[in-house]
Amino acid sequence: MAIPFSLPLIDADVIAEVNDALTNTGWLTTGPKVRQLEAEIALITGTPVLCVNSWTSGAMLMLRWLGVGPGDEVIIPAYTYSATALCAMNLGATVVMVDVLDDFTIDPENIRGAVTERTKAVIPVDMGGWPADYDAIRAVLEEPGIRAMFSASTPRQQKLGRILIVSDAAHSIGATYKGTPDGQLADATVFSLHSVKNITTGEGGAIALNLPTPFDNEEEYTFLKALALNGQNKSAFEKNVPGAWRYDIIDQGLKINMPDINAAIGLAQVRKYAGELLPDRKRKFELYQDAFAQHDWAILPPYRDAERESSAHLYLLRIKGADEQRRDRVITAIAEAGVGVNVHYIPMAMLTLFRNRGYDIADYPKTYELYSNEITLPLYNTLTEAQVAEVIRVVVESVEGTP
Ligand SMILES: *Cc1c(COP(=O)(O)O)cnc(C)c1O
Repeated sequence: MAIPFSLPLIDADVIAEVNDALTNTGWLTTGPKVRQLEAEIALITGTPVLCVNSWTSGAMLMLRWLGVGPGDEVIIPAYTYSATALCAMNLGATVVMVDVLDDFTIDPENIRGAVTERTKAVIPVDMGGWPADYDAIRAVLEEPGIRAMFSASTPRQQKLGRILIVSDAAHSIGATYKGTPDGQLADATVFSLHSVKNITTGEGGAIALNLPTPFDNEEEYTFLKALALNGQNKSAFEKNVPGAWRYDIIDQGLKINMPDINAAIGLAQVRKYAGELLPDRKRKFELYQDAFAQHDWAILPPYRDAERESSAHLYLLRIKGADEQRRDRVITAIAEAGVGVNVHYIPMAMLTLFRNRGYDIADYPKTYELYSNEITLPLYNTLTEAQVAEVIRVVVESVEGTP
């Protein structure tokens, strides 16, 4: 029987929670389930958390909050999903891509080389759940020469006084860096709750706020919550009390709030994430690690060292010495054996939109090297250990049997 690449977790708890939203609260848009989901995610991050309708919209919200727009630059790694670039491009900003390290994350040295007086934000990506090197990134951004280049053009930029770090933590809820949970590693950390991610609401995103003083993160939460609802300072739920009809539009916002019906799905998952779902992903990740460690053609993905621990979102296997053509033949053999795999990611500089904007893959040799021999294996909670064993068998046979 075929093994799909990915399946969302829709179990009895999810169905019960959605049923509760429909039958007991009778509330569909942003309301009590969203508040509960934010509180549960805050237990993981240790920060205030705002839920929105996607990672992409959440990242746009943070850049908009900072006042990023035309003429500004945002630095991102060349190796990521296109949304990391689009959140900035959709605000009219220019995306500056830099090459990555062997562990798939942005190279802090390349950030130094890319900063200009137009740079307003850096968006590191925690690839596959493996945190970027935030201390090294912060150290570069705190260098006197780099700080001196920062040119504030809005009151919030003035208050911050340096380049903002927005983490693309689409993969990395539950990951840790030097004992600190993802959510406290950047100024703002945006998680994705899309259907393929570790926790899902169907579509959704969550922003963990960790802004430095003098910002008050609770105050910014309240402001951002309005900004995610057309700038309206009172939601339909909060107005749904006799006499509470008056509201204000306090700023020009986006309309990106999360519906309660979506929050219910994630609420059932997040409650058992730390105790059950995340350990289960790690167990399967380790089965892959142990199996492929026995093959000298395998380059294993980063997972755990003295400082970092991954959230085991993607199993990014690489085939030593394989070029793109051989990797593609291996994928064909794996597909013919009924196993769904993927490649994370086709570098943006190889996609039409970005090529048309002048980005060239020749400028990102490490990104191309990582991409050209990478195959992502199935990894999700409903994948059985017998299926993991079958994936391993099929992948080993396909690699060793494909010239
Ligand atoms: C999934 C993903 C996103 C986008 O998330 P959405 O919630 O679909 O907007 C952004 N960055 C990375 C690295 C992703 O994998």
